[in-house]
Formats: sequence, C-alpha cells, structure tokens
Amino acid sequence: MKKRRKITRKRKNNTTKVLASILVLLIFTLSIALGILFIQNQFENKNLRHTLGKGKYAEEKIEKGFEVLLVDNIPTIKIKKETLQLNSSLFTTDEQEKIKKQFVYNIYSQKDMLGDLYKDGVFLNELSDFNSYFSQSSFDDEFITLTHPNTEGLPLFIQIPYNNSANFINFVFKDKGFIADTIEDAPEIKENPIEIDPNKPMIALTFDDGPSKKYTLEILNKLNEYNAHATFFVLGNRIKGNEDIISAIVDSGSEVGGHSWDHQYLTKVDDEELDKQFNLVNDLVKQATNGRYSIKTFRPPYGAVNDHVKSKSPYPLIMWDVDTLDWKVKNKDKVIKNILDNAKDGSIILMHDIHGTSKDAALEVIPMLVEQGYQLVSVEELLTAKGIPLENGKVYYNAR
Ligand code: ZN
Repeated sequence: MKKRRKITRKRKNNTTKVLASILVLLIFTLSIALGILFIQNQFENKNLRHTLGKGKYAEEKIEKGFEVLLVDNIPTIKIKKETLQLNSSLFTTDEQEKIKKQFVYNIYSQKDMLGDLYKDGVFLNELSDFNSYFSQSSFDDEFITLTHPNTEGLPLFIQIPYNNSANFINFVFKDKGFIADTIEDAPEIKENPIEIDPNKPMIALTFDDGPSKKYTLEILNKLNEYNAHATFFVLGNRIKGNEDIISAIVDSGSEVGGHSWDHQYLTKVDDEELDKQFNLVNDLVKQATNGRYSIKTFRPPYGAVNDHVKSKSPYPLIMWDVDTLDWKVKNKDKVIKNILDNAKDGSIILMHDIHGTSKDAALEVIPMLVEQGYQLVSVEELLTAKGIPLENGKVYYNAR
C-alpha cells in the first residue's frame, strides 16, 4: 500500500515534470515566434516609413487611413472605397480638380494590373470613362473624397503597388507645386538640392549595373549623410521589384542614369534593339517615379560606342577618367587607393554598386573625399557646374 502510493506520487511527479517541460518549451517557442513577428513588424514599419518619406508627413499619411501592406514582398497600398480623403483647406478648387485627375490617372494607368474594370457591363477602357466614373467623387469644405470604382464584379478594394501610388500621395501632401494635370506635366523633383560652388573642386562618383537590393541604399545613405550626390547608371532589367530604390535615389537628389536594358554591346546590335536598349530603361525609371523623373545621361555598357551608336543616342554618353577596376580586384583598399591616387577636380569615377567590396570602398571613400575638400556631385551636376553643355550622342570622359 505504502509502496504503491509512492509509485503513484512518483508518477505524478514525472507527469508534472513533463508538463512543466512542455510549458517551458511552449513559452520558448512562443517568445521566438513573437520575436520574429516583432522584427518583421519593425521591418515593415521601417520600410513603410522609408518609402513614405520622413517625419511629419509620414505620420500624417499613416493616420489618414491608407492601409499599407506587403503583398509578395511589395509594399502595397490598399485603397478601400472612399478612403482617400484630403484636407480641402490645403488646396484651391483648381488644385482639387488636379488632384482628382491625378488620382484617376494613377488608377487608370494601372488597370492592366488591376484586371478588367467595368461598370454596368461596360469596360472602362478609356481615360474618359474613368473620369466620368470618378466624377462621383466629392469635395466639401473639409475633405476631398475620392471614390474608387466599386461596381459589381470588382474587388472590394484596389491594391496598388505602393511605389506606384506613393509618389502621387507624397506630392499631394508634400508640395502643392507637384500637382499637375497629367503625370507627364508633373514637374521634376529635386528633393535634396545641394549648393555647388563652381570654384571649388568636384568629383562625380558613378555606380553601374544596379540597382542592387543589397548595396545601393547603403551607399545612398552615406551620400545623404555627407550631403553628397552621385550618379547610378542602372540596368533596365534590374528595375522591377527595385522601384523603391530608384525613387530613393531620385528623392535624395542623386542622379539615375541609363546603362541599357541588359548590358549588351551597343555596337553589336541592330537599330531596333539599339532603340530598346536606350529607351526601355527610361520607361521603367519614369514608371518607378510616377513620371516625375527622366534619365538625362547614359553610360554604354563596356564603354562601347561607335559613330553609329553616337548618332542614335538620345542621351549624352558618359565614360570615366578613373576606372577603379572594382569588379576585378574585389578589394576595398585597392579601390580606395585607386580613387585617392587618381581622382582630381572634374573626375568621373567608375564603380559598381553590385559588389560588397565596392560598397565598402564607397562608404569609406565618401567621407575621405569630402574631407579633402571635394564636392561630390552627380554627372549632370558636374558638367553643368563646369559650364560644359550636355549634348546627345556626345562622349564625355571628365569635366575638364
Ligand atoms: Zn556595366
């Protein structure tokens, strides 16, 4: 009897132990899961705030009732019906009309992505169809309310990749000057102009073959920290999914230049292909910035040009006078030494923002050059400040 009781107690003890371990394990798993969730949430928030811009506007917009979520890892804005409300008092009647048009255009230009939009069995194929539909939107003393086409057969809400709508929403809040009749009319952005003293030495750092999810923004942040600009010669086929990087470059006042669609020798392709290599990259840059930015300069892959390419080029063709050979040496210190040994006033320095060693070199060399008294500017700024006119098809190696 005594013995049995003991056994039972022991068993009970064992059960308690097992239960306790399970509990500990559960708590452990739960805290890890919560940790991951927290980090993810922080990331999304950071990402969102980054895309929305800084400070008060971002806070304001988050409070305005847009829902922003990640869809397939793309920050996406979810516009429920009648959620886009703007404070009317900020805008004149004329401006309110422009905002409406801009919003309509914004949705319309993405109809392919949204699928077929139709109302009463009629497809809304023309911009005018959209316009008439959106005329239901209302303006009153307090709010401008834009209604999305919530007709039968349509989803309850429209999801738009955030990059495609953020710019519109940004400039509505940020600067009334950016409101235009159509996207094409929207003025160019110059978010972060720097004052350039033409009498002081200046250098243009250039980064080819990006944008790179891994490195470009890190370089850009360092540039921003030193109130510096650079030129990023991007490849068209790398823009999809990296639209936020393109906007970030433009927003910071640095330059986005073209580097062809997919890095072909322009001297070896036929005219049709040549047009594509020149123009497709600009189309995507324009889309990524909602039509607010167009490429001004172009760097031919491998620096390969001939008279025919020059004659066909819709851009000034930008070479370099300092080749860091960063892609070859893959060595931070060698890249830095190469720049410090060879760069002088008016130099255009060739680097690539797709290698970790190049990124590391950039992060170190930016403060060094600033310390040496160089103004770090984009290629366009460099040539302009030096009084050198930018001519399409003309080849530039430096600004001296
Ligand atoms: Zn290249």
